[in-house]
Amino acid sequence: MRKQIHILIIFLLGVSGFSPVLGAGLQHQVQKGETLWGISRKYEVPLKSILQANSFRPTEHLQIGQKLLIPGKSPGGVWYQVKQGDTLSGIARSHNLKWRELQQINSISSPHLLQIGSRIFIPNGSSLGFGKPLRIPLRVTSRYGYRVHPVTGRHRMHEGIDFRAATGTRVYAAQAGRVIYTGWKGGYGKVVGIQHQGDFTTWYGHLSQIRVSSGEYVHFGKVIGLSGNTGISTGPHLHFEIRYKGRSENPAPYLTHR
Ligand SMILES: [Zn+2]
Repeated sequence: MRKQIHILIIFLLGVSGFSPVLGAGLQHQVQKGETLWGISRKYEVPLKSILQANSFRPTEHLQIGQKLLIPGKSPGGVWYQVKQGDTLSGIARSHNLKWRELQQINSISSPHLLQIGSRIFIPNGSSLGFGKPLRIPLRVTSRYGYRVHPVTGRHRMHEGIDFRAATGTRVYAAQAGRVIYTGWKGGYGKVVGIQHQGDFTTWYGHLSQIRVSSGEYVHFGKVIGLSGNTGISTGPHLHFEIRYKGRSENPAPYLTHR
């Protein structure tokens, strides 16, 4: 019976590498050069437990591509789909994890080889501090990453995400923090910047109205202004940025919770 359950789980999860199995364990697909001992160390699960869980006889040899059940590890979590501009360290940071953890859990050979559209498992225990800056259904009109600028026509980095929002839509603080900037900022028009814990800042651009003042402490979910079309913009929208130590990050992975 136990073996049947394992087979069913592996059948349901017919994907390569690591897969979470709720309540049962993980699935590991054997890579070239791996040994049972190495796999046991990698997952910090006793070798004996792996042998038992897989009804593995000591005389058997591991086959490349073979799927093993790694028992005793049942981390709940979520899948994150890699988007343009994502980095493993950025995704990790946004979930309060170390990138090496994500690399190991997901059996990623090189953090530089993240494929857009591939899925990364984010284990639980990671807390995510940012909420959505709008309370309307989010419609992304321009993603984070390199793009041809809709107004200037130049190829350059888009340092945030654009969300469609009619002028006058309430904009909310994505996390508690101190307002560090209010006013006009070049092409971004009317802008609010908030300093958060952990060297993060969030920025809200093209606002029609600003409803906070510099130095003010805002709670999560406080209305900080109204969206608009100020600055260089092709239509009403909210430009939202998350910066870590001053450098922009793809906000997408930060907005998957709350
Ligand atoms: Zn933008």
